Amino acid sequence: MYHIDPLYLLIFFGTMALSLFASWRVKGAYARYSQVPASSGMSGAEIAQRILDLNGIRDVTVRSTHGLLSDHYDPTNKTLVLCEENFYGTNVAALGVAAHECGHALQHQQLYAPLQWRMAAVGITTVVGSIIPFVGMGLLYLAPKIAIPILALCFGVVMVFQLITLPVEFDATARAKRILAQTGAVAPGAETAAMSKVLDAAALTYVAAFISALATFLYYVMHMLGGQRNDD
Ligand SMILES: [Zn+2]
Repeated sequence: MYHIDPLYLLIFFGTMALSLFASWRVKGAYARYSQVPASSGMSGAEIAQRILDLNGIRDVTVRSTHGLLSDHYDPTNKTLVLCEENFYGTNVAALGVAAHECGHALQHQQLYAPLQWRMAAVGITTVVGSIIPFVGMGLLYLAPKIAIPILALCFGVVMVFQLITLPVEFDATARAKRILAQTGAVAPGAETAAMSKVLDAAALTYVAAFISALATFLYYVMHMLGGQRNDD
């Protein structure tokens, strides 16, 4: 009978706790600082359009969507999607998130290298993501010697993808902070500090995702190397 490795359980529950903690922190920061109105009176949609205009970006559409914090920039369709709370919101959290998504549109316009790498890696990462459950559930029990190297490779791809995501996200947040200060959409002092807390908490979720992918990748690599040693 296949026994469950205690180290695997530790990594599984440890990374799950880390990602829950990161998402709890971002939700908490958002709930708190979305109550802080921006004295500029601008909404997320207004600042997004303003930033795009100031940078001569005319082919990106700003639109709203349902689903709190489902905000993203879609480079394929050149669409900047803000959740309704941030689209219409005139608080510092809404402006921070909108400016962060504009940061991605600026990266796209300026052919920022990590964003190009990330876009190139989306396809393979999606494929790998759909393979992992089959290999992890089925093949791992039937033929662990084949499954473990495949899992190591798959989680290696996921880890690299999460690693590339880090500069993309940190750069978008740095751009957002600069732009909001320059345009005066978020006032210096308390407003800027509150906005920064939301964006920094959001950045932590990407760090958590990278650490989880790295730990899982190393686990399978270690298993693969250990398995080979046993054969000698
Ligand atoms: Zn982002």
